[in-house]
Amino acid sequence: IVVDTATRTAVVQPGLLNAEVKKAVAAHGLWYPPDPSSFEICSIGGNVATNAGGLCCVKYGVTTDYILGLEVVLADGTAVRLGGPRLKDVAGLSLTKLFVGSEGTLGVVTEATLRLLPPQHRGCTVVASFDSVRAAAGAVVTITGRIRPSMLEFMDDVAINAVEDKLKMGLDRSAKAMLVAASDDRGAAGVEDTE
Ligand SMILES: Cc1cc2nc3c(=O)[nH]c(=O)nc-3n(C[C@H](O)[C@H](O)[C@H](O)COP(=O)(O)OP(=O)(O)OC[C@H]3O[C@@H](n4cnc5c(N)ncnc54)[C@H](O)[C@@H]3O)c2cc1C
Repeated sequence: IVVDTATRTAVVQPGLLNAEVKKAVAAHGLWYPPDPSSFEICSIGGNVATNAGGLCCVKYGVTTDYILGLEVVLADGTAVRLGGPRLKDVAGLSLTKLFVGSEGTLGVVTEATLRLLPPQHRGCTVVASFDSVRAAAGAVVTITGRIRPSMLEFMDDVAINAVEDKLKMGLDRSAKAMLVAASDDRGAAGVEDTE
């Protein structure tokens, strides 16, 4: 993994775990956002192949939004370079975008150039219970129409009770739905979002 702090990019080999990339770039004060829940056990190559996203994708997008370039080996053994390290390496049809999410059907990714962000700010988190799925869905639509939460997760009563059976977190078993929302905006903006 080669990190360039000036351009906020990293060139990585596909076998690195997502967590290893996050850790390596964090050492340079940078952040690689895509965060599938399996981030500690899944590879960047697999993330590219499945266009993985996670909790923060509601605000920060999915793997394709962070892939600037790829080296790919095609079925006949030819190695090709797609995209490039600059944000504006986008002229013509985006073959990079075509490869992301192609599940290994078009070729084997042997290197990826990742776009990095400055570190995420500490978020404010809100947990809300609802007496119907419709009410929770209404809240989701209201929230997403006004602000960009950094996380917005929904659970119905089946999921709430399954989690509570397993983890005993003190969740409201009588709720019909639950939302977990977060804002990572700085200072007053984050507080306002949370309110
Ligand atoms: C517990 C768990 C939680 C998860 N949570 C989420 C989540 O919150 N959000 C989400 O979006 N996804 C989630 N996933 C799915 C996850 O994103 C994918 O399983 C993961 O990205 C695949 O990476 P892997 O290293 O496991 O790949 P593998 O399972 O090894 O491979 C997956 C596919 O990618 C192909 N592939 C792997 N490496 C390359 C390469 N270098 N070049 C070309 N093709 C390649 C393989 O051929 C295969 O088709 C979860 C999975 C698990 C098991």
